[in-house]
Amino acid sequence: MHRIDLDAFLDEVRPSALDAGVPVHLYADWTANLEPDSRVITLSSSQPEHTRTVGDYVDALVSETRIARGRSLVAHHADLLARIGDRYGVPASVLTAIWGIESDYGTQTGTHEVLRSLATLAAMGGRRSAFWRGQFLAALSILNEGDVEPNELVGSWAAAMGHMQFMPTTFLEHAVDFDEDGRRDIWQSIADALASAANYLAARGWTRDKPWGWEVRIPAQFDYMLVSEDRPRPLDFWIESGVSAPRSQDVSRECPCMLVLPAGARGPSFLTTANFTSILTYNNATAYALAVGHLADRIAGGAPLVTKWPGDDPLSGAERQELQQLLVELGYDTGGVDGIIGRASRRAIQMYQQRCKLVPDGYPDRVVLEELRRTR
Ligand code: CA
Repeated sequence: MHRIDLDAFLDEVRPSALDAGVPVHLYADWTANLEPDSRVITLSSSQPEHTRTVGDYVDALVSETRIARGRSLVAHHADLLARIGDRYGVPASVLTAIWGIESDYGTQTGTHEVLRSLATLAAMGGRRSAFWRGQFLAALSILNEGDVEPNELVGSWAAAMGHMQFMPTTFLEHAVDFDEDGRRDIWQSIADALASAANYLAARGWTRDKPWGWEVRIPAQFDYMLVSEDRPRPLDFWIESGVSAPRSQDVSRECPCMLVLPAGARGPSFLTTANFTSILTYNNATAYALAVGHLADRIAGGAPLVTKWPGDDPLSGAERQELQQLLVELGYDTGGVDGIIGRASRRAIQMYQQRCKLVPDGYPDRVVLEELRRTR
């Protein structure tokens, strides 16, 4: 268990809070009796789950229950969602999908005191303590601006707040008072919460009347070396390469698209637009953005994915490190041997697969690992 000196942290951060305009007596009031939260310490120290496939993740988040509830909420809030859509350009289905995934439609918003969580995380002194300190100051500013009472400033253990799980800095920058009652209330007001998220996405490049992406078919003969996450190409390019066109007519042939194969060549494939990148700014994980996009499509009446997720047994963290190590020994750059398969690792896998006459989809599966072990 960490030994945490919260008082030292509160003394250290006080001048910055006062500089930000928090009156000295309010700083004293709001930070009085704060104590380290042992639940936050435990949760922040637990290792993230790395061995879940994208398919498992998407299937778990896009459940039939969540689809049905989303459809009923879109109908119930039709007028509100239409007004938000008019103003910010983000469709009802996408906002509702984020709502469903972030807080199960407002039923799981978290009951941790935000100041207490953030002070604990900042005072732990870990790698991200400067980030948590900044969030702590932002939370004080929220109180100082009078949008919420101190006892209402609650969230997840990591201070994600309200229906759409906004961080304090995101609140300060993007929260809006859509119901015009004088307070930006992302905790109790569905109008404020959903409009704030739409405002955020619009600021992060969401483009009106454009889909996030769609599932595509890839031809049997396809040059998988074209799969490159950092290079969008016009839709026309993909269609000429044999990738199926979208059914929707909304997408121009010039629209820059990226081909995403989250489970490799055997799983579903997607073309994604800049709106997918906008969703990624909410939570920077392909699996998350795909879950949001697919849930949005299902809420809007769309069909399940045509291609099933391959039920493969994902590589463990140790196996991914071994795979990276073997690639490095062969001279490939994996961007580190850390078990995290990022862009550089996927590119290295892709080049190795091509050399071995495997399908070069960049996906870290057992076939690649066993091939690498044989060549050792
Ligand atoms: Ca309001």
